[in-house]
Parts: sequence; structure tokens; C-alpha cells
Amino acid sequence: MTENTRELAIVSLYPKDMNIYGDTGNVKTIALRARLYGYEPRIYKYNVGDAWPEHVDLVLGGGGQDKGQAAISDDLFARSQKIHELAQAGVPMLLICGLYQLFGEYFETNEGVRLPGINVLGVHTVGQDTRMIGNLVEHNAQCGTIVGYENHSGQTFVHDDGTEPWAEVKADGTGNNGVDHTEGARKYNVIGTYMHGSVLPKNPQLADLLIRKAAEHRYGNFEPISTVEQAEELNRLNAMAKAA
Ligand code: GLN
Repeated sequence: MTENTRELAIVSLYPKDMNIYGDTGNVKTIALRARLYGYEPRIYKYNVGDAWPEHVDLVLGGGGQDKGQAAISDDLFARSQKIHELAQAGVPMLLICGLYQLFGEYFETNEGVRLPGINVLGVHTVGQDTRMIGNLVEHNAQCGTIVGYENHSGQTFVHDDGTEPWAEVKADGTGNNGVDHTEGARKYNVIGTYMHGSVLPKNPQLADLLIRKAAEHRYGNFEPISTVEQAEELNRLNAMAKAA
């Protein structure tokens, strides 16, 4: 069998337990846009107990309730070393809310139960009684304005260990903690964020950044090949996201 040289291997991380407020839309958006750029996305739905795929070019993980986070915690630890290796090798990852918290050092619920994280991102999160809910608008140096929706009890603080805040909260929203105006965190090409939405259909520039990094990881470069129809479809999707 000859290798498909345009394939991108995408892991959807724990879609059964960690997938709320439409986070599946992120996987669909990546698959759609990758195809429109002439790549062949191969989606691996990875749930607790599954085999880890041989190639991984992009990891997408969603949010979840505290009990979803507890359900995947042991399995995530079993995969921790592999995930660290991929992160250090530059594999792009996007983790929303509940998985963002578990990619940090720990998440302590507002009942005081501490769930350890795998510490890919230097952040820690502490639950509070008041949930942070509402529209979220932020600015990131690479992606410009990003819009979405947040709903979390955890206040997240970014450590000074090479991890950087991902974005700055603009007009609307609380972001990481409601204190320092930061939102999300980034280390290597791993991005953690509170942006539900789904975030990628509304913010195609972020989807494209992830696809570019995934292609660079796999092939050393990003070479979009779109037919005229595909280029028109990309323009249509971009215009729709702008208007939303
Ligand atoms: N359970 C976490 C919190 O409330 C994450 C919630 C989420 O993923 N939306 O902080």
C-alpha cells in the first residue's frame, strides 16, 4: 500500500466524556477545512481504554463537567508520556476548558477535590462557587480577535515556566480568572483555552493555524492545494464566520 502523502492524523480526545457546548464542531471544522486545502483528514476518536494511533499530527480536546474530568483522569495519565513527547515535537493541540484544566498541573474543584493534571501546560486551576458564564472576546497576537463562549467554575493561573497566556480578554468575558485579563495558555504548539462556541467554526484563522502546524509537523511544510470551488467554499465559510 502506498502512503497517502496528504493525510493528516487528527486525534479527537475523549469525545464520549469531554465534549460539551458543541466542541465536536471543532473536529468537524478541521476536517472540512483540511479537505478544502487538499489534505485528507483521518479522525481518530480516542476514548478511555482505546489504542493510541501510530501517527498523530493534531490533537483536539473538548470541555466536560467535573465528573467527566474524573472519568478520564487515569487514562489521561496513562497517555501522559506520549502526549508530552508529541507536544515537545511540535504537534499542535487545542484543549478546551475541562481538558485545558487537566493539561495543567491540577484542577481543584470548589468542593476541594484535587484532580492532578499531566502538566503539559504550566497552569493550575481552582474552582470557585460562582461560575464564569457568558460571551468571551479576546485578542491573540497570531489570530487577532477570537470570539466564543465560556462556562467554568475553575479560575486558572498561568505559571512563569515557558508557558504564556494565550490571549488577552477584551470587552466581554472573564477568561482565566477574572483578575489578570489573561485567557488560555500556550506552550510549544499546545493551546489551552476556555473558548467554547464551537470556537473553530467562528474563528477560522485559528483552525487554519492548527492545520498549518499539523501539516508542518507531518510534511515539513504547509502546501494548500484547492480547486476553484474549494477556494470559493473557504471564502464563503470565512465570510459566514465574520458575519456571525
Ligand atoms: N468542570 C470545569 C469547570 O467548571 C470545566 C467546565 C467546562 O469544561 N466547561 O471549571
